[in-house]
Amino acid sequence: MAQVYNWQLGRPMLYPYEEKHPKSQFAFVFNINRCIACQTCTMACKSTWTFAKGQEYMWWNNVETKPYGGYPQGWDVKILRLLEEANPGGQAWDETAKDGAARPYGVFGGKTVFEAAEKRIAAEGGQVALGYLPSEAEWRHPNFYEDTAVGPAGARDQLNAAGAQLPEHKTWFFYLQRICNHCTYPACLAACPRQAIYKRPEDGIVLIDQERCRGYRKCMEACPYKKPMYNGVTRVSEKCIGCYPRIEGHEPLTGNVPTETRCMASCVGQIRLQGLVKLDADGQWAEDPKNPLYYMVKVAKVALPLYPQLGTEPNGYYIPPRWAPRDYLRQMFGPGVDAAIERYSAPDRELLAVMQLFRRDRRIIFRYEIEPGKKVFETTVNGRKFELFNDTVIAFGQKGEELFRVPVEEPFLVRPAKHSNSI
Ligand code: SF4
Ligand code: SF4
Ligand code: SF4
Repeated sequence: MAQVYNWQLGRPMLYPYEEKHPKSQFAFVFNINRCIACQTCTMACKSTWTFAKGQEYMWWNNVETKPYGGYPQGWDVKILRLLEEANPGGQAWDETAKDGAARPYGVFGGKTVFEAAEKRIAAEGGQVALGYLPSEAEWRHPNFYEDTAVGPAGARDQLNAAGAQLPEHKTWFFYLQRICNHCTYPACLAACPRQAIYKRPEDGIVLIDQERCRGYRKCMEACPYKKPMYNGVTRVSEKCIGCYPRIEGHEPLTGNVPTETRCMASCVGQIRLQGLVKLDADGQWAEDPKNPLYYMVKVAKVALPLYPQLGTEPNGYYIPPRWAPRDYLRQMFGPGVDAAIERYSAPDRELLAVMQLFRRDRRIIFRYEIEPGKKVFETTVNGRKFELFNDTVIAFGQKGEELFRVPVEEPFLVRPAKHSNSI
């Protein structure tokens, strides 16, 4: 195995291939706090890419209710358990080692799916990444446990009398939106014995070559997020393709400019923002503070990777829900959770402006600028002063063209009396 640098873990790690990185990377931020589980994203993907025979059970985009839901069922509980068995008591972070951009969450001292597989190579017949193949039954119910809350410990179907007070609701659940993370160090790619999986040099999207794949399902076994899926009709594996024709700018609806994916563009709750981040030659995110993704992940640090400890360096980032138990969230998003929630709960001027960029347009935003406006409101949040300025945030496209501008304060429009509502 080669040594590669995983900035989410704050350390080098083992990976079967040497470092080699694309020019820019497909990435996205999901704001869990705003998702209403309408599944419009899920259906947008389904109706575009997975409506053929053999694809009936495939949901490249899915939205599951945590903590009980999962597609395939129990995917995260199972991989976390396997890792714990491989490294009992050792899956921990050293948060004292936090250090700027190189180690924003500290250092992960445990084992990734690649490192934990080393011991299993003989026993399991050559696993490159620790994993398992889900059973058919586990793929059968994509929305099992939808809206099922955690109540009082040990009691079934009851709400906790302590109610819903922040910082932690006693009865709680939240929605987790999932697509392929187009990982920097994909476990699917590492495990494929046919070298049928590749990461595109132009945008880092991870694809399965349908001609080379022979359906061995090693990618399904190795991907800790369980995002490759086997097609029993074509007898090859498939996965989310990052809607690459849209990323490339082949979408007539937007005038053939780089366009966000179908699942992003259709999001009713306006929780999703997707784009491309520039990479340096060593694969690190090039400094680009006016790219909204760079700002949220690297500067404000409100958006965190999903299960960074698995080691694939996923390129999907989540603003964690404010109301769920912190221990659970730390296990899911790493040690950055408390700082992210604190910042999101009382956003500063720039963060509030950037949050207005979500779902105002289908075209990919490459840069933003903020035009200062008047102060319109002031209050105290969590003991800290909070000020609201009616700034205007301006979004720019790939060639520097203005895409749109939007004020922080939502315009208040009064319908003229002659058009009054008559219901
Ligand atoms: S469309 Fe948006 S709000 Fe609806 S389920 Fe998907 S992510 Fe959530
Ligand atoms: S999420 Fe899974 S399928 Fe997607 S790139 Fe990462 S390892 Fe591969
Ligand atoms: S990016 Fe495209 S292919 Fe991937 S889940 Fe979203 S809609 Fe489906």
